[in-house]
Amino acid sequence: AAKATGRNTVVVFDPDDPQSSDDSEDIAATLKIALEHGLVHLVYQPIRNVQTGKTDGVEALMRLRMLDGTAVPPDRFIPVAERTGSIVKLGRWAIRTVCRDLLATDLVQVASVNVSPIELKTPGFASYVAATLAEFDVAGARLAFEITEGVELEIDQDVVRCISDLRALGAQVWLDDFGTGFAGLSWLRLIDFDTVKIDRSFLHDSNTERGKRMLLDIISLLRNRGVKILVEGVETIEHQLLMQQYGINQIQGYYIGRPAPAARLETGNVLPFSMARKLDSKRLS
Ligand code: C2E
Ligand code: MG
Ligand code: MG
Ligand code: MG
Repeated sequence: AAKATGRNTVVVFDPDDPQSSDDSEDIAATLKIALEHGLVHLVYQPIRNVQTGKTDGVEALMRLRMLDGTAVPPDRFIPVAERTGSIVKLGRWAIRTVCRDLLATDLVQVASVNVSPIELKTPGFASYVAATLAEFDVAGARLAFEITEGVELEIDQDVVRCISDLRALGAQVWLDDFGTGFAGLSWLRLIDFDTVKIDRSFLHDSNTERGKRMLLDIISLLRNRGVKILVEGVETIEHQLLMQQYGINQIQGYYIGRPAPAARLETGNVLPFSMARKLDSKRLS
């Protein structure tokens, strides 16, 4: 928004005004046509069970390419999709794709899908999930929904009902990025999550005494609530050993495996670490 003040033109940047944001209009327009033009796809990142050392499941992560081929990160396009409403169609596409891509195979037990609270508020979400599970003859227990606490959302009766409808289908409900927003504690108070994912910033801060204590405090809070704990952002062997020591249930991160295309799932894994390294060095050369 530009304002003329006397002889000078003062341009005020307002992050809440979509008009004044650099490329969000492009992104919004691209999101509208993304499904028909095949501009979105999913990648899957493994989730490791710390006790068994095996891959318990995978998380589906959305990717977007613009028409000119440039990739836009989800942290950039998801907020635009939420604001413009495109998230509802894209989210349904993701659920359908997850059911088709991977739940039709028995190599991966559980696939988690990120859902925006806006999707949960949209009437018919749980019945869409039910219909899609039925269409692919997939058990609800093989799906988990990750809800981010970072997004501002008033937890009203609609959201609570939607979550209990999803659980009635046998699906799990997880709280994502725990500790990054202000809402996490009230979410925990109102909803029985199966698993809480601790945001990777807490693991990354654990190299200081202060950070380590913070992480341990969060872990004991969650343990007292009786939820399973997944820690995100495991990037080194030291991180993994610490998580073993702390008795964390599941871990996820670049050290365990990077997000990979669906085709890899057909081979059972989901990218062992050594293989991820090889692929990375190939990419560099
Ligand atoms: P998230 O659900 O917390 O996903 C984890 C993010 O951390 C992913 O980024 C993943 O690639 C990245 N990551 C995984 N391991 C590591 C690690 O060891 N170190 C570091 N530094 N990063 C790691 P990505 O794919 O860019 O996604 C960002 C966020 O976008 C997601 O955070 C999620 O909130 C949102 N998102 C992604 N796909 C979807 C979707 O289909 N629907 C919705 N509503 N949101 C999505
Ligand atoms: Mg997630
Ligand atoms: Mg997360
Ligand atoms: Mg996130």
